[in-house]
Amino acid sequence: MTSVNISRGLKARFRKILGKEWVLDSPADLICYSQDAGGYSAVPDLVLLPERAEQVAKILDICAQDGIPVVPRGAGTGTVGGSIPVQGGVVIAAVRMNRISMTSLVDLSCRVGPGVITGDLQNRISSEGLFYPPDPASLAFCTIGGNVATCAGGARAVKYGVTRDYVRAVQLALPDGSLLNLGAQTAKSVVGFDLARLVTGSEGCLGFITSITLRLLPMPLKVVTCVALYPTGADALDCVTGFFQASVVPRCAEFLDRLSLQAIRHLLPFPVDGDAAAMLLVELDGSEESAAFEANQVVDVMKAGRCLMARILEDQRAVEQVWQARRGMSPAIKRLGFSKKVSEDICVPRHALVEMLQFLESISTDDATILAFGHAGDGNLHVNLLLREGAAGDQELIRAVIGSIMSKAVELGGTISGEHGIGISKMEYLSLEQTAGLVDLQKRLKGLFDPRGIMNPGKIFL
Ligand SMILES: Cc1cc2nc3c(=O)[nH]c(=O)nc-3n(C[C@H](O)[C@H](O)[C@H](O)COP(=O)(O)OP(=O)(O)OC[C@H]3O[C@@H](n4cnc5c(N)ncnc54)[C@H](O)[C@@H]3O)c2cc1C
Repeated sequence: MTSVNISRGLKARFRKILGKEWVLDSPADLICYSQDAGGYSAVPDLVLLPERAEQVAKILDICAQDGIPVVPRGAGTGTVGGSIPVQGGVVIAAVRMNRISMTSLVDLSCRVGPGVITGDLQNRISSEGLFYPPDPASLAFCTIGGNVATCAGGARAVKYGVTRDYVRAVQLALPDGSLLNLGAQTAKSVVGFDLARLVTGSEGCLGFITSITLRLLPMPLKVVTCVALYPTGADALDCVTGFFQASVVPRCAEFLDRLSLQAIRHLLPFPVDGDAAAMLLVELDGSEESAAFEANQVVDVMKAGRCLMARILEDQRAVEQVWQARRGMSPAIKRLGFSKKVSEDICVPRHALVEMLQFLESISTDDATILAFGHAGDGNLHVNLLLREGAAGDQELIRAVIGSIMSKAVELGGTISGEHGIGISKMEYLSLEQTAGLVDLQKRLKGLFDPRGIMNPGKIFL
């Protein structure tokens, strides 16, 4: 394990900046910041918990002078190893930077600290009639800073887009001790390069995000939820195209394959018979009339296809139950009895989704079983490779299967990550999608923000 010597003198300087209770170096504390939700781990040498942007800037300045690696951390719900210190050093966690300092129905915006929990923000602004659409399934735990750093998506992306579509401005602390305001507070701005967009999805490799101004929308007045079961995955995916053909853009069009359905069927508020091999969960929103009208159109499209059952969920408790089951998919998969799970999140153009699914079905075996679910409206599938206890040569098997899935996604005009990012888990596949010249350009850009290479080293690029 890589470790960096952080002298007593340096710790004393950090304590002076933050106060001693916010500088953590006991083994028990360090372990708490050593893992992410993808199961990747590396123990930091020090954990710092700043409250203000100026403190972060001072810490980065000191670390840059001493060449100490710095890893920004939100809630550690990332799944690609992005928040763990693979080269040792300091983890700066945003937990205390959790103020919502401004919300405005007039400007349709809010300003938040990076440590604000996404679900808390949504709950707080909904009482003011405001709506922040990005809804990663981890929203009860993840932070807005982590969402911006990974450009998180979610179920509502099909209609509302992803985190980058809601970032108006970010404040970024740089390793030279400066604080830069990128983007603008306004709804429009064309002033210089769009660096707020560059930082969105940069996985903590350019600087530490200390504040974010988000674009909001008025809260839709009505949401209607529909479900349908299908005899095959392809039947379900074909149906999604029918919604668009009927001029309906649902706010969610979630897909579950046979094994995903098996994992959560006991949690669903309707019976799932043995013939069902796929499910769609579709939501419409708008005014009372428009949401109801579109929901009826969606159910008509479902019934016109090869569905086994299609209905509007009238009971709000049933709606909550379905979403709870869907958001709990990751833990539910763990209960299927496989000993190892490797999760990927490829995304293909929607026209290629059926071909992608059929490819996944064709490579799924007893030794290396594939389970897929995700955002059918966006072409974004969460592909899980599940291995049984004692599967022979599992590392080679994993590399071969995952490599073939990534290659197929790229061959179909897709991408190796729709929403989770590269971190350490997908570094070796980056060259499938990006040329050496493009990777080199990004490394040079990183060098301009971070000349000493202290920001989240060992991530994204090999
Ligand atoms: C059950 C489950 C469901 C999930 N569902 C979704 C989903 O639907 N959609 C989706 O997109 N993701 C999903 N994820 C992945 C994860 O929740 C997201 O990537 C989320 O955005 C990470 O936020 P976090 O606060 O936990 O960040 P972390 O995991 O702590 O960090 C993630 C990355 O962001 C960087 N970072 C964090 N904070 C900052 C900062 N202030 N400044 C600079 N860099 C920073 C870190 O260095 C790291 O590279 C899911 C994860 C789980 C476990």
